[in-house]
Amino acid sequence: MSDSLDALKSRLGDVVSLTNIQALVEWDQQTQMPPGAAASKARHVEVLSKLSHEMEVADETGSLIAAAEKEVASATYDSFDASLVRVARRGYDRARKLPTDLVAEMSRVTAMAHEDWVKARQNDDFAAFVPSLTKILELKQREIACKGYKEHPYDALLDNFEIGLTAADVDSMFSELRVELVPLVKAITERADAVDDSPVHQEFPEDKQRAFAEMVVSKYGFDFSRGRQDKSVHPFCTSFSRDDVRITTRFDPNWLNPALFGTFHESGHGMYEQGSDPSLEGTILCGGASLGVHESQSRLWENVIGRSYPFWTHFYPKLQETFPGQLKDVSLDAFYRAINKVEPSFIRVEADEATYNLHIMIRFEVERDVIGGKIAVKDIPEAWNAKSKEYLGIVPPSNALGCLQDIHWSFGGFGYFPTYSIGNLLSVQLYDTAVKAHPAIPEEIADGEFSTLLGWMRSNIHVHGAKYEPKELIMRATGEPMQSRSYMKYLKTKYSAIYGL
Ligand code: ZN
Repeated sequence: MSDSLDALKSRLGDVVSLTNIQALVEWDQQTQMPPGAAASKARHVEVLSKLSHEMEVADETGSLIAAAEKEVASATYDSFDASLVRVARRGYDRARKLPTDLVAEMSRVTAMAHEDWVKARQNDDFAAFVPSLTKILELKQREIACKGYKEHPYDALLDNFEIGLTAADVDSMFSELRVELVPLVKAITERADAVDDSPVHQEFPEDKQRAFAEMVVSKYGFDFSRGRQDKSVHPFCTSFSRDDVRITTRFDPNWLNPALFGTFHESGHGMYEQGSDPSLEGTILCGGASLGVHESQSRLWENVIGRSYPFWTHFYPKLQETFPGQLKDVSLDAFYRAINKVEPSFIRVEADEATYNLHIMIRFEVERDVIGGKIAVKDIPEAWNAKSKEYLGIVPPSNALGCLQDIHWSFGGFGYFPTYSIGNLLSVQLYDTAVKAHPAIPEEIADGEFSTLLGWMRSNIHVHGAKYEPKELIMRATGEPMQSRSYMKYLKTKYSAIYGL
């Protein structure tokens, strides 16, 4: 009876395995690989992406999906089989739009571009990245032509990361946020002296930073028996299975925040990956619903929890024990304020919660206009700096601190950035819903106890893997569509108290 369905599962299982092996090679590129291996790794990635794409878009896959659709016609919408076939159909129709040679070339070009970007950033040499970036953008234009779009060419790329998201959607989300966020940041900036963050700018040995951060994320629920942490230029999370999840971080020996909050952040992604229902393992349904939903989990553990007062009432004494020379005379209140200092700064990943979305607005507008042909590649630094001045009030002194700071363009991730802001909004919307269901959660956090909160995220978000589209999942979990109200209320309440507004 279910021959086609079984054959489809097996075929897609092979595609998933190839994709996971490719992810392992890419993880190696960013964490362990000697620089001389760049070209060979690029070949490996190209072969793997070609193989998986060929299998994914083969006529045979299409026939199996069509036959399986008939077999699951009476299965309930939520069932594993119906979900698998539904998601397979969506992926197949999307992947069929891209020719295999384009996919392979993109993998090869971006694998090499990664090294170019690392060097360009190290040497603050944007011109050295221009040839790679130009090539990537040519490939992106071919991709857009293959996929098609209704209003703006950038829509075709946004949709890669958040199904159905358009430039107009992002514009309206930012317009809504801008109304309250810009005045809030301005009011805070006028009271900049109210918060002293010198306690976090001291010498903190790397090994102790690492041990403390890993201790915390173990308590959160990140399972080190099914995951590990390494170092990379740009922190990220990837997984090869729900039982093999890799997170990375970077250390600043003179600043506590990057590794500490970076580890909290990536552990949120990691726990989402580890939390897929075991029955989804090795299938296309394992993993997250979208990047925006993924980012809601990382921002939750990084900020809503990791930068909250209750959290530090429990963990600050332990941090003081870890760094007695640096922190024994710093009070909990002073430390809490220090980690929540709001200050327009250059680096997005190190930005505070209040200015973070302004960084995303910069990137979104630059990307959209580069893709739309309004900004030439060589003019990106100038456009970037102008937006930085407009939104953050500061101009980066170098491109390394400006348009070269992020890895995303080197892997062709145009359209990715807005998902960070979606994640911010959803992190608070989901947390508020969890607390409504379990009002003791804040008290539990103050006791260093996270199982109720993680349990709520597990059963409402994680276990579903990629079964539901993001809009569907959020509606199911919170009873309403994504909204900015909760997030702005959270920011205003928290920072009014810290800055005495
Ligand atoms: Zn993230």
